[in-house]
Amino acid sequence: MTEERALNFIEEIVENDLQTGKNNGRIHTRFPPEPNGYLHIGHAKSICLNFGLAQRYNGKTNLRFDDTNPVTEDTEYVESIKEDVRWLGFEWANELYASDYFDVLYAFALNLVKQGLAYVDDSTPEEIAAQKGTPTEPGTPNQYRSRSIEENVQLFEEMKAGKYPDGAKVLRAKVDLASPNMHLRDPLMYRIRHAHHHRTGDKWCIYPMYDFAHGQSDAIEEITHSICTLEFIPHRPLYEWFIDKLEIFPSRQYEFARLNLTYTVMSKRKLLQLVNEGHVEDWDDPRMPTISGLRRRGYTPASIREFCERIGVAKRENLIDVGLLEFCIREDLNKTAWRRMAVLDPIKLVITNYPEGQTETLHGENNPEVEGGEGGRDIPFSNELYIEREDFMEVPPKKFFRLGVGLMVRLKHAYIVKCESFVKDADGNVTEVHCTYIPESKSGNDTSGINVKGTIHWVSVPGAKTAEVRLYDRLFKSENPAAEEGDFKDDLNPNSLQIINAFVEPDLAEALPGKGYQFIRKGYFTLDELSTDEKLVFNRTVTLKDGWVKK
Ligand code: ATP
Ligand code: MG
Repeated sequence: MTEERALNFIEEIVENDLQTGKNNGRIHTRFPPEPNGYLHIGHAKSICLNFGLAQRYNGKTNLRFDDTNPVTEDTEYVESIKEDVRWLGFEWANELYASDYFDVLYAFALNLVKQGLAYVDDSTPEEIAAQKGTPTEPGTPNQYRSRSIEENVQLFEEMKAGKYPDGAKVLRAKVDLASPNMHLRDPLMYRIRHAHHHRTGDKWCIYPMYDFAHGQSDAIEEITHSICTLEFIPHRPLYEWFIDKLEIFPSRQYEFARLNLTYTVMSKRKLLQLVNEGHVEDWDDPRMPTISGLRRRGYTPASIREFCERIGVAKRENLIDVGLLEFCIREDLNKTAWRRMAVLDPIKLVITNYPEGQTETLHGENNPEVEGGEGGRDIPFSNELYIEREDFMEVPPKKFFRLGVGLMVRLKHAYIVKCESFVKDADGNVTEVHCTYIPESKSGNDTSGINVKGTIHWVSVPGAKTAEVRLYDRLFKSENPAAEEGDFKDDLNPNSLQIINAFVEPDLAEALPGKGYQFIRKGYFTLDELSTDEKLVFNRTVTLKDGWVKK
């Protein structure tokens, strides 16, 4: 977006830091995904914020994989994350991995042990939880808390060497068991996990916890502004405690409200469930709020960036109407999509005074929103066309400016036709509409002097291609499925995907992947990745107008 807007609160912080000469005017952010799933639109907000700040203030952004949990992480996710960030239009200064810091982190931990600020605890998770107390009662120290430095050094080295099984011991920071902030009550720093890591292999059997990896990675990379979501506010004192005690680069943490979107869920754990249990095709199912799903659905990077710009950066949680996201893609596609004709629910229109077997080639520009129309395409015309069933009525009401016996409409890019009669099948369904055309009314060269109010789209039967068209609706029935009691999946919309067969104009056989097409009067569509020369498949990105009626 080019128009000026007020600074968000993080930009204000950055501008203030620049004015006071903090970090010598250096701005360095990072985007730190855990490679345990595909990115979603919430991540896009964080990406736009972090990369956007660096762009605006001449800084840098690292892409750092927060890969400290070997069990849930995978290189498949790493690759998809890189693809998605690039697709959104951003390039990172450095591609980094928290796992590359395992040696440094271990040295940091040993440093704290040697300062008497960390200890090895043999308690079970249940014992640790019980000893931590409650927000109103202080925790109670156990016998391990007073272990000597020498003993702690030895035990921690043995943990690293693989002497103990999973869960036998943990390393804890010795902070304050009476702190009103539960995160400061001797938080875990390391746990034992004999698991294969997607990058470090079997080198490690102890892995650092989030709180003892994230801030330290920020410091190692000399990140100036470490931006995360609000749930990390209570972690901030610990973030600062570690930096203070280790005397490492003082990165600072700032928190903003995560994006929540109506009619979907936004946690990777829940999205993974939808994939694993077959409620959707895969992570890139066009109904998913993932970047890959939105891409396959036909969203453009510009529309997603514009959406992130419009929702802004808030300090309080809120729920954003998915209608805003749809508004952004409509605005973009209205300017960029190529216009084509497709009939989704066909009946035949026969022109009785147009010679049978004759065809002519009409022309339509690709994009009337742009000077010159961005080129165009040939459209065959003949005496037999498909039109939408809803564009004809047996008993048309007043002000129905489409077809009914005696009514006239313009066929887009072609002629004016007048409806003379219609044919029904044995069940009473209309199968054919018979019309006459006005030869002098050809679009672009209309000398008929006839004015008609309605224009309808059509596809010539000779030349028509069939295409599978996938129409999507909300994935969930309620606005905030995550907030519902019970299983969020009970709230899935059983009608979120409708597959139909349509007739499309022949030029769409050459539709470009990733390109938006407006099927005139029907919505915006894009070629699906499953489409082949034998079988065209299109996804509806969004309808032309907001057809969603609040219940
Ligand atoms: P999820 O809860 O979906 O699993 P996460 O926070 O565990 O997300 P990470 O891979 O750790 O996922 O997130 C990488 C970055 O993206 C973090 O800085 C995180 O704060 C940010 N992020 C994740 N979800 C959102 C969201 N809904 N809105 C804004 N930022 C988000
Ligand atoms: Mg996370």
